[in-house]
Amino acid sequence: MGHVIGIDLGTTYSCIAHLAGDHPRVIPSLEGFPTTPSIVSFTRGGETLIGDLALRQAIANPENTLFAVKRLIGRKFNSEEVQNARARLPYKLIEAPNGDVLIEVGSQQITPQEVSAMILGYLKKCAESYLGEEVRDVVITVPAHFGDHQRQATKDAAAIAGLNVMRVINEPTAASVAYGLNRKQNGNIAVFDMGGGTFDITMLEIGGGVFHVLATNGDSYLGGEDFDQRVLDWLLEDFRKDHKADLSGDKLAIQRIKEAAERAKRELSFTQETEINLPFISASSGGSKHLRKVLSRSILENLTADLVEKAFPLVERTLEESKLKPDQIDDVILVGGQTRMPLIYKSVSEFFRKKPNDKINPDECVALGAAIQSGILSGELNEIVLLLDVTSLALGIETEKGGYERIIEKNTTTPTKKTKAFTTVENNQRQVKIHVLQGDAPRAAENVSLATFDLVGLMPAHAGIPQIDVTFEINADGLVKVTAKDVLSGKEQKISVHPSSGLSRPQINVLIQKEREKRAKEITRGKR
Ligand code: AMP
Repeated sequence: MGHVIGIDLGTTYSCIAHLAGDHPRVIPSLEGFPTTPSIVSFTRGGETLIGDLALRQAIANPENTLFAVKRLIGRKFNSEEVQNARARLPYKLIEAPNGDVLIEVGSQQITPQEVSAMILGYLKKCAESYLGEEVRDVVITVPAHFGDHQRQATKDAAAIAGLNVMRVINEPTAASVAYGLNRKQNGNIAVFDMGGGTFDITMLEIGGGVFHVLATNGDSYLGGEDFDQRVLDWLLEDFRKDHKADLSGDKLAIQRIKEAAERAKRELSFTQETEINLPFISASSGGSKHLRKVLSRSILENLTADLVEKAFPLVERTLEESKLKPDQIDDVILVGGQTRMPLIYKSVSEFFRKKPNDKINPDECVALGAAIQSGILSGELNEIVLLLDVTSLALGIETEKGGYERIIEKNTTTPTKKTKAFTTVENNQRQVKIHVLQGDAPRAAENVSLATFDLVGLMPAHAGIPQIDVTFEINADGLVKVTAKDVLSGKEQKISVHPSSGLSRPQINVLIQKEREKRAKEITRGKR
């Protein structure tokens, strides 16, 4: 087997790592940076730019620069997450015929999976250039609270990019592996993970090479971008007051302010005050206008205090589900760039009554953990490490009158399976429909529909006579599989599956072929 790499495909930045001997190492991007912006841009000249190059021209081309696509992947157009994103993103989102999200760029419509595949393809290229050999096998990370659709869509994106996903692991679990590998101590740890788009909190017990996730929770709408938005809104409001002008409809100005807001936010993690200076932010018959404003750390903290607070009820719930008290946590790991904010550090320290571990690089530890896992799977690493992760969402089925019966409970260690017996309710019924959902809400409609499974071709019999055992399985990647067996004949029961979302196998094959041809062309061009 060739080199296996670990990929942290982040909302705002991505990072890749590999195992060098017994140690994981970050692989730099082609531009020489440890992380790569998760951005794809389509230029007016017909070029596709990825990573730092895409970021650099985002200001000049906001409608065709796609960022934060991870917020859209595997989600329904009508979901709250997508509708929230739609209000903020400068590029256009439309509804796909199956209710998924499509991104409209010029005259073309592309899926979030394809955009993520472009980023993954670029990361593959970085790894190949660095390692000097083709890379195919990867371990890829996802937020712990990602459901089946988001996990499957991420896997599909990797397949389109020509990658074989050996394992999908949860980001906080990967971070804990990077943390725990060289420290042979036992104990309970909390992973507080706030990146660009999402927040995850996970409690684990580590001991004797076993990483046992006790409980995990997350918020797919709490991350660095929400902090940037607060600064952006504050600047717009101020500009409105000072200049009697509204910049909110000016995409170019918004993009410039958004970048400046994010930069200022980062600087304020290290200084008390920073100046935001954007000359010629707008021009009208009345002349050019400039945006100039001093932002202090305390103003930033006032603007965003509620966002920081929003994380803690989830932390409390996760502790409760783990049957732990804050003082039973031996170490706290901060993951994700947003945790560099001093207010987060302070709030986490106060909550757990201890300083978080500061020996871990929050931008790199997830990719490093994925690289360690890749070494375990490929047999390169001799350490004995066992990952016992959990499912962050319950799995269940729709019952009468829109009810919901949970079959696999949230926080169950994966892989896991549960079997339930089904029968018919009418004489000579030939088919039984099972609607599988994911989530913790009491009603079916409030959970995410995964698919309907029809048990077809049942033998004619009186109602209640056929007995079909249906097995619901969540594998180590957190993906759901349903199989069925006819108890009387002992034979596998036929199922026809109607997924509620995602790309079909033939669609994925077409996209894989398209990407393959594109890469082959690039190689031929490169050889000339
Ligand atoms: P990640 O997804 O882990 O790469 O995190 C990216 C997020 O972290 C972005 O929203 C960044 O603005 C934010 N971030 C990065 N560095 C800092 C910093 N020094 N202070 C505050 N936020 C930061």
